[in-house]
Amino acid sequence: MLALVTGGNKGIGFEITRQLADLGHTVLLGSRNLERGLAARKQMGDPDNVQVIQLDVSDTESIKALYDQIRSEYNRLDVLVNNAGINYDTWHNTFNADLDNVRETLETNLFGAWAMIQQFIPLMQSNHYGRVVNVSSGAGAIHGMSSGTPGYAISKAAMNVLTIKAAQLIRSGDILINSVCPGWVRTEMGGSSAPRSPQHGAETIVWAATLPKGGPTGKFFRDKNEIDF
Ligand code: NAP
Repeated sequence: MLALVTGGNKGIGFEITRQLADLGHTVLLGSRNLERGLAARKQMGDPDNVQVIQLDVSDTESIKALYDQIRSEYNRLDVLVNNAGINYDTWHNTFNADLDNVRETLETNLFGAWAMIQQFIPLMQSNHYGRVVNVSSGAGAIHGMSSGTPGYAISKAAMNVLTIKAAQLIRSGDILINSVCPGWVRTEMGGSSAPRSPQHGAETIVWAATLPKGGPTGKFFRDKNEIDF
């Protein structure tokens, strides 16, 4: 099985990559900076089944170049984990938010994932197999939404709608598309006070990336349990 993890060079993405590789899958570790990606692979012990690839999800050309590479080397993609994410924007609110900063957030967190789905779903369809995991956040759940982190919360709420819209287009059971909240995790984004390890944060994402045929699609999960969008 061939998996691609965006933002695989650190944090939760690093752990998703490691766990999928430990399960025996070939994993493309996406890193917008190739050196950082190679350093991450080294930290994993340079496993044979982890290949580092350059990918900036906010750059359409970067996505197209990667697609061409995957098409010619493998002609398949079984698992796409849209993990890359930025800007947990605690520093402003809805009324005073810097909208350029919000646009930047949407560019990666929403449009990056959307562009990846557009690019790779046809390849999954041609192989009649695909698992897409959008790494979302409870901050993007409409139910109980707080006033904080406006750009981030809106980007993840929109990502959840992307999950629903994409899943509604494919009802065959061959391709499953879900959102997962990893919980509050100790990473550069989550900070050092977060209660969860990156290993724990990655677990449900890996579970959703390896669901059996006919498994759930168009849903939102935390700790392998469905939660409200
Ligand atoms: P992190 O440690 O800050 O890592 C983010 C990763 O995304 C890095 O590899 C980063 O690359 C990459 N990235 C950022 N912009 C990118 C782009 N344009 N193209 C490709 N890669 C890009 O964050 P994390 O905590 O592991 O978060 C991973 C995901 O989990 C995010 O989607 C986040 O929103 C979500 N999440 C996290 C928490 C939490 O508590 N940590 C909670 C809920 C949801 P660089 O190293 O080059 O910056």
